[in-house]
Amino acid sequence: MNYRKRFLVEPGAKVQLGELDPDFTGKHANETAAKADIADDLERLRKLQYRLYAEHERSLLIVLQALDAGGKDGTVRHVFGAFNPQGANVHAFKVPTPEEAAHDFLWRAHAATPARGHIAIFNRSHYEDVLVARVHDLVPEEMWSKRYDRINEFEKNLVQAGTHILKFFLHISPDEQLRRFKKRLDDPQSWWKLNESDYAERKHWDGYRKAYEDVLERCSTKRAPWYVIPANHKWFRNLAVASIVAYTLDELDPKLPKPAADIGAIRRAYEEAAAATSPA
Ligand code: ATP
Ligand code: MG
Repeated sequence: MNYRKRFLVEPGAKVQLGELDPDFTGKHANETAAKADIADDLERLRKLQYRLYAEHERSLLIVLQALDAGGKDGTVRHVFGAFNPQGANVHAFKVPTPEEAAHDFLWRAHAATPARGHIAIFNRSHYEDVLVARVHDLVPEEMWSKRYDRINEFEKNLVQAGTHILKFFLHISPDEQLRRFKKRLDDPQSWWKLNESDYAERKHWDGYRKAYEDVLERCSTKRAPWYVIPANHKWFRNLAVASIVAYTLDELDPKLPKPAADIGAIRRAYEEAAAATSPA
């Protein structure tokens, strides 16, 4: 199932998140019905990453953004768990450390971008600097309002260097967020995840919605598109993200490099070695 067109934010398009249904599940009625398709996409991801790594030419940057309990961690586990960790890494962006804060806001993001052949997953990202920074007035408007253009330039620079970029906003409803908070509260295994500030952040829901809508409108570009993923159903979120990443990698069509060695000569050497060691 190709959800690329459906969830793509066309460059410059105005997005009203309130009009996008976070409960959408497409043609699949439930998780059971989607199981085979999810498994299929994960297998494609595995194979395509193998080729991307072997090709050692291009790279992939995946940005995950969501409100608290939006499912970033689950997506990392269930979708990107398909990748071989040798060629993939996840970078979680937290409140900037003093060293990070002493640099320009893109410094830490740039340092975490993927090398040739690699995939980097940003769990939160440089977009926090026009999201939380804006909603909480961490910097004056005069400063954050200039960052959209800087982000677009930064991403353009990466694309020109051979990094493909996909950005996902995991879209949940306020009710679903509350359900997930309650589930965490009921399960001692999840208590470590609880954070008073998550509840306080709910008061800023509208502020975040507006800030996200501006990000989606101003920073979805042809080369570094944003996708809004209906994420109330975790299994559908996984299916949609996996299928979009798989289609994108398919299109990149990474090629195994030509063998550097003379395969004929190696085969002859192998046959000689095998003949010499086989019993008479
Ligand atoms: P979890 O789902 O486990 O809670 P999380 O991504 O919310 O994961 P936390 O450690 O709870 O991780 O939160 C990270 C916090 O860092 C978020 O509140 C986020 O807004 C904040 N943060 C990230 N980047 C910046 C930034 N550039 N400036 C200020 N705060 C930031
Ligand atoms: Mg958190």
